[in-house]
Amino acid sequence: MTDAALVIDDLTTGYGQLKIVRGLSLSCHAGQLTVLLGRNGAGKTTTLSAVAGLLPTMGGTVSLHGVPQTGSTVARVRSGLGLVQEGKRVFRARTVEDNLRLGGFSVRRQRGAIAEGIDRAYERFPILKDKRRQLAASLSGGQQQMLAIAQALMPQPTVLMLDEPSAGLAPSVVEQVFGEIASLTKDGLCVLLVEQLIDHSLAVADRVAVLDRGRITIDTDVASLDNWDALRESYLGATIKE
Ligand code: ATP
Repeated sequence: MTDAALVIDDLTTGYGQLKIVRGLSLSCHAGQLTVLLGRNGAGKTTTLSAVAGLLPTMGGTVSLHGVPQTGSTVARVRSGLGLVQEGKRVFRARTVEDNLRLGGFSVRRQRGAIAEGIDRAYERFPILKDKRRQLAASLSGGQQQMLAIAQALMPQPTVLMLDEPSAGLAPSVVEQVFGEIASLTKDGLCVLLVEQLIDHSLAVADRVAVLDRGRITIDTDVASLDNWDALRESYLGATIKE
């Protein structure tokens, strides 16, 4: 196994004095898709926010390729971290191409980086090229999710975190979005996916971790997962949505 791309070590974080995540440790590797499951309120979004530098770290460390991350969100983006936040899909009143351009804010000083990023986005998501001059609001839910992912890919992250990309999407569209996420992983990206849809997630994931009340209770290869019942029981709420 290669060195981990993302290492979360003994992370404690929360809001104000309130500790939500307590001593969470998790490692993710290049070319590997790790799904972080857990029932509503378990602390999944809180974890991603702290890793991205949107919330303060109360204890522990977050490292990208062995380098501890203590700086701002933009600094972490420049270090290779991407985040697709739940619900915050795109700038609806801007065109598809403007959205991509905005996604490249952290690389705009590198000559040609934005144009190259847009070309890469259109190659991966041809539908976005077809609709490049349309307002993002005119795209379907699934297309907006693709655009949100394409936007996060603009600075060429090595680690991509996605928070419930299935939220609000029709089942057939979820398949498509998960297919794209699997393809990104195959191309070498380290993906940390937060989800509530167990079966969809396990179909594409290499590793699975379960978060329960701020702590990791299961962390294993999907291939060697032998106790599915325990996995389901650990967050019954999730099975209901499937
Ligand atoms: P969901 O699947 O519902 O998004 P989650 O696992 O992502 O759940 P979080 O959103 O991380 O859970 O929330 C974890 C806990 O933190 C919850 O109890 C929630 O009420 C609390 N929480 C979330 N945001 C804040 C906030 N801004 N201030 C205080 N508490 C918060």
